[in-house]
Amino acid sequence: MARVLDGAALAAAIKQEVGEEVRRLAARGVKPGLAAVLVDRVAASEIYVRNKVQACAELELSSDLITPPREITTEQLLNLVAELNARDDIDGILIQLPLPPQVDSKRLLDAIDPAKDVDGFHPVNSGRLLAGRPALAPCTPAGVIEILKRSNIPIAGRHAVVVGRSDIVGKPVAILLLHENATVTICHSKTRDLPAITRQADILVAAIGRPGFIAPEMVKPGATLVDVGINRLSTREEFDRFFKGDAKREAAFQKRGSTIVGDIDPKAFELASAYTPVPGGVGLLTIAMLMANTVRAAKLRRGL
Ligand code: NDP
Repeated sequence: MARVLDGAALAAAIKQEVGEEVRRLAARGVKPGLAAVLVDRVAASEIYVRNKVQACAELELSSDLITPPREITTEQLLNLVAELNARDDIDGILIQLPLPPQVDSKRLLDAIDPAKDVDGFHPVNSGRLLAGRPALAPCTPAGVIEILKRSNIPIAGRHAVVVGRSDIVGKPVAILLLHENATVTICHSKTRDLPAITRQADILVAAIGRPGFIAPEMVKPGATLVDVGINRLSTREEFDRFFKGDAKREAAFQKRGSTIVGDIDPKAFELASAYTPVPGGVGLLTIAMLMANTVRAAKLRRGL
């Protein structure tokens, strides 16, 4: 039976450690603070930001939720970022993506002080990550490594295949796995004979954005499967493709009108030695790692 790598339990353990660190900092008169900027109030972004603000409250970090109007210009947002960069009570700045089309996202993300870049998207932090220097690593990739390490899954010397090469997930996951001494292969949409490569993976990380894309025949039996994907299924046809006959999912689908599947076909999980479920896997680590990064930024900024 494949072992389920329980994101909730791992995230709770990380949050507890972060909470302890927050208390130690409080004793020294430091309270880490996160500014969350939410421009495009689409439902998914609202939920993500709300969860992040709630996690701050839970761990007694201060948070400042800023919700500029949707019509805001790049220049106005750059001014806001400059203000946040200058504020001493703010250790982390998070700009929830996506931004509305009139905003130059890259310019904005590049304007964040790298010392406050708790999402780890700034090129300075990407460079530090690549060079193996202490950096604020992107939260989801850092969460993937935490899952593997805390679950005692060996990484060194193993073949890790990462499908996806985005700047926010695929690339940094691959770099972090390399730093853990895995032999890493990165695949993408132009990769030839993808199944032949994924079948070699001892650790297979899927960060593609396509529902159930990794089919059972693409997986080596006994592999560890890490599913970063979050894809919403809202039609009966899509639902039946993955979850037909699954009573628990069916009830949730009936209630909400949709359900979530990762980038790995759930049938492939049966072949694995261990896997992260969706929901309940990698996604839950992302917020825990954001809290950890905020505390880390607070300490680094003060030379602690
Ligand atoms: P992007 O769309 O930025 O990147 C997707 C990657 O998948 C690209 O590198 C693309 O290749 C590759 N890809 C697409 N189609 C194929 C294919 N047919 N064969 C091989 N590779 C392919 O997505 P993100 O990296 O931002 O996100 C990936 C997934 O992770 C999404 O489902 C997203 O929702 C989820 N996610 C989850 C988070 C969490 O907290 N759990 C956080 C962030 C993302 P190419 O570069 O050639 O186009």
